[in-house]
Amino acid sequence: MKYKIVCKNDKVSKKVCDELKKIISKEETNNPDVIFSIGGDGTFLDAVRMHLDVLDQVYFISIHTGTLGFYTEFLPHELKCIINNIKKKTLNQFNLLKIDVDGEVNYALNEVTLTSQQHLLEGDVYINSEHLMFVRANGLCISTPSGSTAYNKSLNGAILDFNVNALQLALIAPFETINSRIISPLVLSKENEITFKPKNKYFDITYDRIFISKENINTVKVSYSNKYVKYMVNPEKSYINRLKEKFIGK
Ligand code: NAD
Repeated sequence: MKYKIVCKNDKVSKKVCDELKKIISKEETNNPDVIFSIGGDGTFLDAVRMHLDVLDQVYFISIHTGTLGFYTEFLPHELKCIINNIKKKTLNQFNLLKIDVDGEVNYALNEVTLTSQQHLLEGDVYINSEHLMFVRANGLCISTPSGSTAYNKSLNGAILDFNVNALQLALIAPFETINSRIISPLVLSKENEITFKPKNKYFDITYDRIFISKENINTVKVSYSNKYVKYMVNPEKSYINRLKEKFIGK
């Protein structure tokens, strides 16, 4: 196994990292086929972003040391079990969103947000070149199914099963008048492209938690990309169990 570890910079995660290295008893490599993410969801997002160019060659194993995580499949006490079962592993995948800002392309695992704090974000939303609505809001959020439990959820967006191939558009604090009607969060199948043409050109774009510093933007296009992240599934942890653990409780 050629492996690499992306570890959160805290005591607990570093301890788990040392234990893992002892169990594997081999050096890390810069040309891995397995990437361990040790930390929380943020660590997993970082690990994916660091390996965007080699996603087709690697898979991820996420070990959870933070607060309850949604991308984190395994717990530190399962380290030995992970390594012993690595050969008969089951992999699943998360698709990424493609974000094209006037020709500059980025990818997001959770979502992209377009926001404006001082003034309302205003502009037209098109679905595949067809006009859908004029938006006046603090912002808009377009999320993946795996990102539907993150920012999207705070916007009352629907929670989507990881295995649904879709993208979701939700508005952030929309300002509705008779001239500017808004709709509920909209779930579109993966073939659709969402385009935003801003009226005011100064607003912020963030994908996952990365800020794109760009001014005078004409068009933002968001679509379901052909890039995906493969990850090792924990057979003991169902999707429903994860929802219950993180959001509902006992
Ligand atoms: P962070 O440290 O600010 O933590 C954000 C929280 O979101 C953490 O508790 C994390 O576990 C959780 N989270 C991240 N992805 C998730 C997912 N797919 N499902 C459920 N929970 C998830 O930042 P971070 O850990 O780097 O995460 C970045 C994400 O934070 C962004 O992609 C965005 O979705 C989310 N966020 C949410 C809000 C909000 O809900 N109002 C605002 C800003 C950012």
